[in-house]
Amino acid sequence: MSPGKSTILVTGGAGYIGSHTVLALKRAGYDVVILDNLVYGHRDLVEKVLQAEIVVGDISDRPLLDRLFQTKDIAAVMHFSAYAYVGESVIEPAKYYRNNVLGTLCLLEAMQAAGVKKFVFSSTCATYGVPDVMPIMEDHPQDPINPYGASKLMVERILADFDVAYGLKSVCFRYFNAAGADPDGLLGEDHSPETHLIPLVLLTALGKRESISIFGTNYPTPDGTCIRDYIHVTDLADAHILGLEYLFSAGNSEVFNLGNGSGFSVREVIEAAKLVTGKNIKVVKCDRRPGDPPILIGSAQKARKILDWKPQYPHIKDIVAHAWQWHQKRHK
Ligand code: UDP
Repeated sequence: MSPGKSTILVTGGAGYIGSHTVLALKRAGYDVVILDNLVYGHRDLVEKVLQAEIVVGDISDRPLLDRLFQTKDIAAVMHFSAYAYVGESVIEPAKYYRNNVLGTLCLLEAMQAAGVKKFVFSSTCATYGVPDVMPIMEDHPQDPINPYGASKLMVERILADFDVAYGLKSVCFRYFNAAGADPDGLLGEDHSPETHLIPLVLLTALGKRESISIFGTNYPTPDGTCIRDYIHVTDLADAHILGLEYLFSAGNSEVFNLGNGSGFSVREVIEAAKLVTGKNIKVVKCDRRPGDPPILIGSAQKARKILDWKPQYPHIKDIVAHAWQWHQKRHK
């Protein structure tokens, strides 16, 4: 199928990774329809920046989905909409299973009824739990330690079964730590509440927060703080285009890690932010956050090999610099 002739339904297209992917889709010549309930998404970015069509609604609204599939010629679905707060998922698991699992099942059943057979899914390295081998490969056992990771793993299993039973072809991307912002400054990360390290560090640099808390300084890592594999959101978006094209060229269902294969500690991220912003950032040492594995680093060799994906912004300084550019603009 040639780009420009296909309409792609993007659920959660008003959110962080979804919006960057919509931008990449439009640049690649695809027509896009966003489905987003705007609980966490940003209408202003969809209307002013993406200038994309948006249907405001829920993935668990089956009549709405049926109408969408009947009225639009949808070639594939990219599914970003999900709740993604790990801590909240431990306290309110029902919310996560209802939205992330049952909502996705509703979407998949509507696709099946409409004969749409290509699906790109946002999964997560949280499906691995506490890994025993690093870097993590896709065949590492999956044993999530929180309901968020479990909800994503359940969808991966549903997708495998839907392929066997109904011929649904899917690409599951297991993201490591999505970070950064559109290099042109058009889009970026804007969660409410914000819980992620890089935006919190930058909000501290901007003076919007007093200090940044380091969650745990006695981990078995060189500087005692957790190590994560930060991957630029624009590189994630590019991988989604490649995943879509892979499905359009009759690829079989596959699962890919998306990371840089290198890790940075919390302290290293804060140091990078000090360099980029030129600001002094006050740090407070705190207890560990429950559910945080000491080190998560992913191997994305499979995506590099099969999808020919090459991250353009692997350096933490670029990731933080692009995020800084966005935050300065967003919080003027
Ligand atoms: N972190 C931290 N202080 C914060 C937020 C996060 O020390 O205010 C740490 C967190 O414990 C983890 C890393 O930064 O080791 C990345 O956390 P984030 O929430 O950004 O992503 P996650 O790894 O949970 O997906």
